[in-house]
Amino acid sequence: MSRRRIQIFDTTLRDGEQSPGIALQPHEKAEIAEQLERLGVDVIEAGFAGASPGDFEGVRAVARAVGRPTVASLARTVLADLDAAAEALAGAGRSRIHVFLATSALHMEKKLGLEPQEVVEHARWSVEYAASLVDEVEFSCEDATRSDPAFAARVCRVAIEAGATIINLPDTVGYALPAEYAGFLADVRRRCPEIRGVTLSVHCHNDLGLAVANSLAGIQVGATQVECTVNGIGERAGNASLEEIVMALNVRGDHFEIETGINTAEITAASKLVSERTGYVVQPNKAVVGANAFAHEAGIHQDGMLKDERTYQIMDPVDVGVRMTLPLGKHSGRHAFARACAERGVELEGEELNAAFRRFKERADAGGAVALEDVFEEVRA
Ligand SMILES: [Zn+2]
Repeated sequence: MSRRRIQIFDTTLRDGEQSPGIALQPHEKAEIAEQLERLGVDVIEAGFAGASPGDFEGVRAVARAVGRPTVASLARTVLADLDAAAEALAGAGRSRIHVFLATSALHMEKKLGLEPQEVVEHARWSVEYAASLVDEVEFSCEDATRSDPAFAARVCRVAIEAGATIINLPDTVGYALPAEYAGFLADVRRRCPEIRGVTLSVHCHNDLGLAVANSLAGIQVGATQVECTVNGIGERAGNASLEEIVMALNVRGDHFEIETGINTAEITAASKLVSERTGYVVQPNKAVVGANAFAHEAGIHQDGMLKDERTYQIMDPVDVGVRMTLPLGKHSGRHAFARACAERGVELEGEELNAAFRRFKERADAGGAVALEDVFEEVRA
């Protein structure tokens, strides 16, 4: 069966970097971009060149550092932003300006102070101008999910007529529910059939913990690009997590029948690098990349895992670049304990194993980590 290939648009270096307290230097952005290229992302959004001289240099450094991926810069519908983006992207193998403009009544009135007709006109001239500067233009209806679908569709049609080949309909504030988001995308596409001729992108935020679920819902109704970040970092509660989307599509390939260009074995390395450079620690129970994502401590689970890993594991940790760990603690079983001993060169059997395991349990029950070497000494004493 042929699988639909979707594009992974990584915005770790733009939306991710907008997380409070993160300020990546240009050389750090280049280093992360090189890892994103190894990971196999299709597009790297490197920053917002018009936002600051530092952001400009960051985009330029990424454009020069990578070869295969398209490099994108965000831009408002402002001449200086579009020019800065184009200049920073000059060294890229393939360049994209990502123009965004709000289409919700709330944003248009309160933030932009623009009438709907003025928004339509801004979309038209800015996309036309951007298309004259770089290889391709993406247009985003900011706050799309809180916009009138008829108006969002009108703006999308104008952006496509002006030369945009990627249309993004983001859930900017993380408000949508999965079925609702899928319905919204389908509604806009029905009102603007021209979307079928371009790449349809989804971009979801995690304010209600639904960014990945919403992204997957969007993919299921035909989105061909998904915007996400490593470790799910991003504004406020973050963006959709790249590793969760990719592994959901992989593990449940039977359901989605979709493929990406991601080399999943590079996921853990990407996660560690982004965490180290941004200072954003990954929560231990985070799906796919958390320290405990493949840890099994309960004795029954450990025993099952040692007999057949499929008993308690839906993906092979090797597939995302990590080794499975069976931490030893008060919940561990005799089987896992014996294996841990054997890994340290101590083969225990029969009564010797029973005695050592009893000692280990007593110590583990008292709390804290147990050093196996101490257990061996006590048993031999
Ligand atoms: Zn965003």
